[in-house]
Amino acid sequence: MNVTMEVANQLKSVRPRKAVLEMPEYHPPLAGREALRLDFNENTFEPSPRVMERLLAITAEGLTKYPEREPVERIVAAHFGLQAEQVLLTNGVDEAIHLLCATFLEAEDEALVWTPSFFMYDVSVQMMTPHLRKVQSDATLAFPVERFMAGITERTKLIIVASPNNPTGAVVSREHLLAIAAAAPQAVLMVDEAYYHFHGESTIGDVSTVPNLIVARTFSKAYGLASLRIGLLAGNAKLLKYVRKVSSPYNVNGVALDCLPVAIADEEYVAWYADQVRVGRERMMEGLRGLGVPFFPSQANFVLMNIGSKHKELVAAMRAHGVLLRGRSADPGCAGFVRITIGVEEHVTRGLAALKATLSEIGWSKQQVSELAGQQVSDGEREFE
Ligand code: PMP
Repeated sequence: MNVTMEVANQLKSVRPRKAVLEMPEYHPPLAGREALRLDFNENTFEPSPRVMERLLAITAEGLTKYPEREPVERIVAAHFGLQAEQVLLTNGVDEAIHLLCATFLEAEDEALVWTPSFFMYDVSVQMMTPHLRKVQSDATLAFPVERFMAGITERTKLIIVASPNNPTGAVVSREHLLAIAAAAPQAVLMVDEAYYHFHGESTIGDVSTVPNLIVARTFSKAYGLASLRIGLLAGNAKLLKYVRKVSSPYNVNGVALDCLPVAIADEEYVAWYADQVRVGRERMMEGLRGLGVPFFPSQANFVLMNIGSKHKELVAAMRAHGVLLRGRSADPGCAGFVRITIGVEEHVTRGLAALKATLSEIGWSKQQVSELAGQQVSDGEREFE
């Protein structure tokens, strides 16, 4: 027996937890992204110039230190009118979701989500428990409030709702979110406000009065800092104390912590970017109407289009035109759907022009839309983002 085989045999006795064997897998995008990035809902331009200045001021000695999260948490908390104990900085909202699942879910507990939504919820919940209840939207992709509320049981310990939602762009009213929190006092309700800036309504002002509400925000979208990996949880200090126990003290790196205070201080920049997106979104929806492409009205920095049977051809042809889109066919209820990110004015113009050329190139027609209605691809093929 050679050494490799021997090692492989020994490994047979090492097994991960059952939940890890059974949880869905992450499928990273397969091709490069050297093109106009209208695929991942990032900022398509660049962050505040003040962030770049701050980055350039980082010293070699500064890099030798372990990062200090707490002083920056105080600054961020003050920005939101909260106490430092009500805020936890995380390595993106991805990590925040992971931490909440690890903190609050036992293997026999249930988690409740709305679908279609962000795939990371499935991954992180199923890392802890197989009992993930999914409440599917109807064909409008609007929030199914009554059926969702009916999905709450006494075993529900974590509820996650994104508003605006990804990949649909639909929103959930504050009134409905507060009703959900009140109906499940034994559960944590996480409201994922990753796309807050493009909508403008928030429940962050309710975290001091609603004990089981935790709001997540990211700096990956409007702030343009996806590469630095910064997110936050805002909520009841007692709940966040548990989450802090689970988190590594150095989960957010020092470069990100250095940049965050200047990023949040430049409110003018974020307001400008959000405005670019709101105007661009209207232009995109108007353009899609003109082209006859059905879409879902969005309050986020993307629009979900219903392309139908030629969805893969559209994504490939757009790539050939130098524009990346995201096929969403594998999401439940989304067969034939493709998502396009809205960025700054010039990028919307280029995206729209490429769409117009490409739809005609692939011989797209509205009849193809109904050909896929009601079809579903398996969960296993889903990708992040
Ligand atoms: N929540 C939603 C709804 C998202 O769409 C995304 C990313 N696209 C995230 C969270 C993750 O954000 P982050 O980059 O902060 O991990």
